Amino acid sequence: MTQDHLDTQLTHLGENRAAHKGAVVPPIFQNSLFTFESWDAIDSAFDDRIKNPIYSRGTNPTVRLVEDKLAAMAGGEMARLFASGMAAISSAILHCIGPGDHVVTIRNVYGPTQNLLSRYLVEKMGISVTFVSGEDPAEWEAAITDRTRLFYLESPSSAVFSLQDIPAVAAIAKAHGIRTILDNTWATPVFQKPLAMGIDLEVHSASKYLGGHSDFVAGAIVGSEADLRSIALREYELLGGKMAPFEAWLMLRSFRTMTMRMRQHRENARVVAEWLETHPRVRRVRWPGLASFPQAELARRQMTGFSGLMGFTLDTDDLAAIKRFFDALRLFLRGVSWGGHESLIYAPAISYLKELTPERFAALGISAGDMRISVGLEDPRDLLADLEQAFAAMG
Ligand SMILES: *Cc1c(COP(=O)(O)O)cnc(C)c1O
Repeated sequence: MTQDHLDTQLTHLGENRAAHKGAVVPPIFQNSLFTFESWDAIDSAFDDRIKNPIYSRGTNPTVRLVEDKLAAMAGGEMARLFASGMAAISSAILHCIGPGDHVVTIRNVYGPTQNLLSRYLVEKMGISVTFVSGEDPAEWEAAITDRTRLFYLESPSSAVFSLQDIPAVAAIAKAHGIRTILDNTWATPVFQKPLAMGIDLEVHSASKYLGGHSDFVAGAIVGSEADLRSIALREYELLGGKMAPFEAWLMLRSFRTMTMRMRQHRENARVVAEWLETHPRVRRVRWPGLASFPQAELARRQMTGFSGLMGFTLDTDDLAAIKRFFDALRLFLRGVSWGGHESLIYAPAISYLKELTPERFAALGISAGDMRISVGLEDPRDLLADLEQAFAAMG
């Protein structure tokens, strides 16, 4: 589907305005259950309890409308929305693996995903995990054992923005009968289509750009109808991490402007990244859209655009000066998460210094001067002015 058709679909696909008195925005099905005229009517609804709404832990029409639009956006046959990105990720992983299986993933995978794989599922299901840098497809192939059932990718990774060669890694997996999941939160389906590159399941934290307004937490899985039907009847219904109708309705609102928002995030991020790169107080900038990005060629091959989350390193290791910069910002708000309309800053060291020994911290290649910013939709001239006055405050 071309981007033009996508814009039209985000407005019109699956809408049934005639059924709702012509309301241009669909009403919210804010109900737990659906009632029926007869025994036979309930009986036939149960013939397909994914398509037919019976109880909102399974299927809700407001949620389904947004799932259909997301499936179209990502080029998948079917999508399911979840209560959070982690509910989607844990369900997708459990769909693919069983006790004793082996998983290969990247070293810098999103923190809670890393904990889920390397601690929780090791303790609960006896799985084993191999971490690779992920940048060379040969690493994935070399990590395969006779128990390997899953390659879990995150490209670009939200921690250090490293990329995996998606078609190459997916092809290796297919050749060995291994399933693949890719966390596409950073690029969004607007800029990257993992399913078309051979990935089985695309997962999202919809709390970031799919929501885009920092007003709800949600997640999603997109893939084939066979996979998604199995997930809908097993992980979705049995673990119960379902999407709320009101949040789905907010996400529908967000979808109306999805491609315009992503274009503006991309343009603003480019202005900020290129300016930071030339700034004397900045040691280096990590943003896949920069010509200087180490995997720039791969980034251009598998993405059609770049979102607004980036990293940069201040030119000092003096924690007091770093804190002065961080605290002086006025428009960049200090907080976790990203992908909303507002610009944000976070220093990974704040969490890592609490959780890790100084040696482990140093081994991760992260320093106290590493900043992560989410470039929002404000006028980029104001964002540059805000950064400039904060650099001046460092002393
Ligand atoms: C935020 C995030 C998640 C988790 O999503 P939640 O909605 O917070 O549960 C997963 N992956 C990435 C890359 C994220 O940034």
